[in-house]
Amino acid sequence: MTDAPSYGFDTLQIHAGARPDPATGARQVPIYQTTAYVFRDAEHAAALFNLQEVGYIYSRLTNPTVAALQERVATLEGGVGAVCCSSGHAAQIMALFPLMGPGLNVVVSTRLYGGSVTQFSQTIKRFGWTAKFVDIDDTDAVKAAIDDDTRAIFCESIANPGGHIADLDALSAIADAAGLPLIVDNTSATPYLCKPIEHGATLVVHSMTKYLTGNGTVTGGCVVDSGKFDWAASGKFPSLSEPEPAYHGLKFAETFGPLAFTFHGIAIGLRDLGMTLNPQAAHYTLMGIETLSLRMERHVQNAEKIAAWLETHDAVEAVTYAGLDSSPYKERKARLCPKGGGGLFTIALKGGYDACVRFVDALELFSHVANLGDTRSLVIHSASTTHRQLTPEQQKAAGASPNVVRLSIGIEDARDLIADLDQALAKASA
Ligand SMILES: *Cc1c(COP(=O)(O)O)cnc(C)c1O
Repeated sequence: MTDAPSYGFDTLQIHAGARPDPATGARQVPIYQTTAYVFRDAEHAAALFNLQEVGYIYSRLTNPTVAALQERVATLEGGVGAVCCSSGHAAQIMALFPLMGPGLNVVVSTRLYGGSVTQFSQTIKRFGWTAKFVDIDDTDAVKAAIDDDTRAIFCESIANPGGHIADLDALSAIADAAGLPLIVDNTSATPYLCKPIEHGATLVVHSMTKYLTGNGTVTGGCVVDSGKFDWAASGKFPSLSEPEPAYHGLKFAETFGPLAFTFHGIAIGLRDLGMTLNPQAAHYTLMGIETLSLRMERHVQNAEKIAAWLETHDAVEAVTYAGLDSSPYKERKARLCPKGGGGLFTIALKGGYDACVRFVDALELFSHVANLGDTRSLVIHSASTTHRQLTPEQQKAAGASPNVVRLSIGIEDARDLIADLDQALAKASA
């Protein structure tokens, strides 16, 4: 299909990137389960290897099933291109890799998925990169953290686990003034609820493991490029603006313009880091995205009902859901996520750590798992699991204190979910 910008989200989530298979007419995107692609002749092969012609060489770099998914996610996010990779964490490295180098830093939000806090505070140091953690709501602290060696600002649109909404308009203004890209992890919101690029984000990263696939079947990630950042303007991003020795001195920014970041992600990132998404996983994610808007509507409806019910429950001290009338993020929700605050939030129990453990063990319909964004309702006690490696201060900043449980509300009957929560809360406070 020609991706006419006039098509609505519900149409694009089904059709973007997908065309009937030219060889067979197959209507669904085939799983191109192949490692390599036959070259027409030696000249064709040489042109492909020199990036003079776009095509398929080897599935570590490009694959038609994965390409369909890349086009679909890029279209839904309003970007010019996307690079899919093997996990959300791979996507974060793929986003930073062309920007960073030894001695350089990224300014990141303290309110992040626990695994991201660990990736940024520990593992990236091995590359000589550092992360400066700041309260992303404190715009003065964000500005103060930026120095000559900063190469990006990173935050989550709706933060896991607490459902806090980052003020993307304010953050992109700071990033623009400093000549830096703003990278937004849009996993918990999805492009149905939030469009970071419309609010000034340069790059959007996803764990497609979560809502995009939507049913807990695959691990996958994606980096979407807005195509709007001028990588050559400041001289701070030589990987994109300077001659690339591995491609005979080709300059990505000059040669590929708005697609420079995407081409670099494939031709250098996937080629050399090898964090490739396999075509079978891409197929599952394409299936999942077809119903994204329908699922997100129900996730939001259920989360709104359940959060409001929990807020009045005697055993519950606090509910963080941004979709509540009482939420401090009410204004941001209306501005950044007008269709809803997502399906993810935390509750603090009056009974503390012990009550949380009893509550999680007593739930029957909710599954106790380290995942979110499934059709099924899920629960986890972050402090004893996903956020276990964090210090008490990091746990508190991330919204994962010991008395806090994270709920990922599924698309079952809200009545049944409330009944399950009710019986488990009774056991937790007994
Ligand atoms: C799960 C998650 C990630 C990491 O994604 P994986 O696919 O598990 O590697 C990153 N960010 C957020 C917000 C997540 O929820």
